[in-house]
Amino acid sequence: MTNSPQIPTPAHILADSMLSRHFGRETVNYFSSEDLFCGINVFLFDIQLTLTGSPLNRLSFLRSEHSFLSAALKHPSTHFVLLKDLAPLTKSPSELYYAKYDEVRKLVPEDAFDKSEEEMIKQFDSRKTNAQLIFLGLDETKKQGGLAWKIYTGAPYFALDVTPKGSEEQQTHAKDIISTMEAQGLSFYQSRVVMTFSADEAAIYAQARALIDWNTRNTFCGTCGHPTLSVNSGTKRACPPTDAALAEEGKARPDCNTRTTLSNLSFPRTDPTIIVAVLSADSKRLLLGRSKRFPPKWYSTLAGFIEPAESVEDAVRREVWEEAGVTLSRVVIHSSQPWPYPANLMIGAIAQVSDPEHEKISLLHDPELEDAKWFEIEEVEEALRIGTSPLGEKAGPEYKGGLRLPPPTAIAHQLIKAAITGDFIYSKDSKM
Ligand SMILES: [Zn+2]
Repeated sequence: MTNSPQIPTPAHILADSMLSRHFGRETVNYFSSEDLFCGINVFLFDIQLTLTGSPLNRLSFLRSEHSFLSAALKHPSTHFVLLKDLAPLTKSPSELYYAKYDEVRKLVPEDAFDKSEEEMIKQFDSRKTNAQLIFLGLDETKKQGGLAWKIYTGAPYFALDVTPKGSEEQQTHAKDIISTMEAQGLSFYQSRVVMTFSADEAAIYAQARALIDWNTRNTFCGTCGHPTLSVNSGTKRACPPTDAALAEEGKARPDCNTRTTLSNLSFPRTDPTIIVAVLSADSKRLLLGRSKRFPPKWYSTLAGFIEPAESVEDAVRREVWEEAGVTLSRVVIHSSQPWPYPANLMIGAIAQVSDPEHEKISLLHDPELEDAKWFEIEEVEEALRIGTSPLGEKAGPEYKGGLRLPPPTAIAHQLIKAAITGDFIYSKDSKM
């Protein structure tokens, strides 16, 4: 997994610890962006070693520090990731384009961060629209020429939604930026799922896409139905108590119970799903399934949404029984993968059947799968070597016509590999 340039290889997976010796190295999946510093005393760590799957330190505690954000917005080292209808602006299908402040200033006024959040909420006017701007974090590997703020130095990253919408003026400015960019040969990469970026850029794009998508879907309060305001650098939305647009008509906003405390906010959602590689009772076979939309001979791990009030382990057992009729015993959580289409976190597990009687497959409960089958480990090993590719692409030149599996950028691939090598149980270096 680590020899593919598309899989993140952050420094922390090589670090020695009792847990890494016992359980093996952590698997960091594509789109991963661990927010190590969120909620953790930052001074416990060497800032030089940003131990994350993403190159960005999100510095979530600076999202309301307006002097920092104002400085970051206009700094020469600042990178803007532009999205139009969630499609990223790219130099090529494998490389993002990062705009400078001068290229986006029409849509982002210099005083965008001048007011405090309290003032912004107090002065809310739903007639005034702004392009959605999100502070993504600081790339601390870019110290040379970077922004220095307290103990943090690096290049700031923002995401900006340039989809033409909002006021007429905003739409005109957005269209101007789009045509200027396209005239330079850049393009907004249209793809249902983008899996062609390097691991670093995939993590940056995933964060930008997920947050712009969430903001776009939450412009009205889910409780009172009135317009909301983006705050906290694009990572929260508030339902302000007053609106200048209504006040001018002599109307007031209704009471809203999201406003009963100072934290009158809604937060970006993450929808957890499970995905699981299932071992037979004798550990010699693996359960895989296929949906109708898969190409011929293509199988993958089983997956499904976690339901309210359900544990991860119970969701794994329920999904596998519903889709394949197989009854599981032990479930071990292996690794996870953010999936920004639009807001999933796939929680990867490895599970096993305890009794051969429980291995009997039935597709009669839930008709979601076209087929589910037990595959011998040898066949799966061969497919991992020569039969993988992204969905919709051909397998490699050595492929002989057998089983096909997802590529290393998919958590399904990592789970299958871990299940058949046993790497998730204990490290080969373990001194047990
Ligand atoms: Zn409300």
